[in-house]
Amino acid sequence: MKKLLLITFIAFLFACGKNNKKEKELAATAQDNEFETYKTHFIEELWETSPGWASYAGLHEYDSIISIPNEKNRQKSTDIYKALQAELTAFNVANLNTSNITDYYLIKNQLDSGLWYDNEFNSGEWNPANYGIAGIVSRILNGRYDVLDVRLRSILARLKHSKAYYEQARQNIKTPTLEHTILAIGQSKGGLQSFGQNLVDSVQVSTLADDEKALFMARIEESKTAITDYIDFLESKKQELETPGTAKSFRIGKAMFTKKFELDINSDYTAEEIYNKAVKRKEELHQQMITITDSLWNSYLASTPKPEDKLQMVNALITEISKKHVGRDEFIPEIKRQLPELVAFVNEKDLLTQNPDKPLVVRETPLYMRGSGAGASVSAPGPYDKDANTYYNVTPLDDYTDEQAESYLREYNHYVLQVLNIHEAIPGHYTQLVYANESPSLIKSLLGNGAMIEGWAVYTELMMLEEGYENSPEMWLMFSKWHLRAVCNTILDYSVHALDMSKEDAMDLLVYQAFQEQAEADNKWRRATLSQVQLCSYFTGFTEIYDLRSEIKSKQGDQFSLKKFHEEFLSYGSSPVRYIRKLMLENN
Ligand code: ZN
Ligand code: ZN
Repeated sequence: MKKLLLITFIAFLFACGKNNKKEKELAATAQDNEFETYKTHFIEELWETSPGWASYAGLHEYDSIISIPNEKNRQKSTDIYKALQAELTAFNVANLNTSNITDYYLIKNQLDSGLWYDNEFNSGEWNPANYGIAGIVSRILNGRYDVLDVRLRSILARLKHSKAYYEQARQNIKTPTLEHTILAIGQSKGGLQSFGQNLVDSVQVSTLADDEKALFMARIEESKTAITDYIDFLESKKQELETPGTAKSFRIGKAMFTKKFELDINSDYTAEEIYNKAVKRKEELHQQMITITDSLWNSYLASTPKPEDKLQMVNALITEISKKHVGRDEFIPEIKRQLPELVAFVNEKDLLTQNPDKPLVVRETPLYMRGSGAGASVSAPGPYDKDANTYYNVTPLDDYTDEQAESYLREYNHYVLQVLNIHEAIPGHYTQLVYANESPSLIKSLLGNGAMIEGWAVYTELMMLEEGYENSPEMWLMFSKWHLRAVCNTILDYSVHALDMSKEDAMDLLVYQAFQEQAEADNKWRRATLSQVQLCSYFTGFTEIYDLRSEIKSKQGDQFSLKKFHEEFLSYGSSPVRYIRKLMLENN
């Protein structure tokens, strides 16, 4: 490895010294080849530090390995990251091709992040929800990549370490927050489901030997006990933490938030700049919504006097329009019905090429994935198993009272449910992820940038409406409300963690200024207390993509093609928009 690097370096010096264009190109090629070797090495080392991630990405040779979260493994990761950093600095970015430049910065960011998370952020000490063994067991069991016996043997090997894993978790947790403790209790209880009848039945129908089956049953019991003990440990922690002044605050503070934003979002904007843009965007949306409400008022509420307060006036009309929604049992069937309509619209308007061979399967969110407050999500196959199913997870309303269900259904009314499907499925997350897996760069597929991914989904909502999808003032009003949600996610996240926003002020923002139903606002507050920075990704990515499109449009004039823009944008994989922008501006 080091020898090859040295050769490249010498070739590079030689080329520069001679100032000969052809030799410079040769040197660049040599450096790119060397960088390919480095990338392969980087990924191998990545799986060494995070075997669970490998499995999640669809590389199943690591399925049987479980990483115990102890000091030895933390130190090992730190050493690996530092060695990889040192090797990375040997490359001259200017000498790489454009695709490798993006990969270079993605790797650099990943290494900076890994070191910061392990050594500065230290959430393993205060977030008990970091620990869990159930999700990956269900993932392996439900995967279609190999025969049942092979998958079961991977699970069997993992379960050997369940007890040691949770013992270490208990030792690591020093100053938990009350909020993350409650989350971890719920997730662990849900996780027990992964060791239920479904797994037992799978073992029984397998062709494992009888003694293996017996061992499996014993390890299932051990694992359940380990989880139950962890729940008991957390329950007693929770009681301690309920005494005021005992728990660590869930607010990470401005300095920590700013750094985390820099690493997680990887934007040209700072957290504070994006916050200020969001505040401005909120005011613009309010003005547009007031104008639409004035024009629609008499069609819906002619006999009702208009409230003096403009936001109350908008809210009154939104409440009226939100009454148009499906029944609680029709929620999932309606989503299934709408997806083909979206496919047809995208084709009809020629917005981008869709791959008909990749089915999107709508399913009820598996129990082990519930509890984070999100009602819908997409689980895509990793880059190593492109043929696995892509799931559209929708949480059914079974656990809701009639009142809660009504509130939820008004939030996801006739109009907003369509925008949700655009965002989650077509041409939002699902479409983007299909493209990302076709991207030739494994690095870009693996180190996907959350702001690009969420930004794309938010961008497609506005783009579909601009192209005439369900074009009505009602739709624009309800879209604006939904879009305001992404904007207020940013305002809320920054305000809660960096500006010490109170719950009362948060509710004023979400319910009064963003017109959300109480249930939605409660979920969002909870999410803001449990996560940091992620809620900023939607608006940050959207802003970057929309601005890039305007930039290219004005450059190309009549030559601009929306389809070409979309396909080229998506072809770079889930890279940070700042780097896609650089590459696209060079090409266009
Ligand atoms: Zn209703
Ligand atoms: Zn999303």
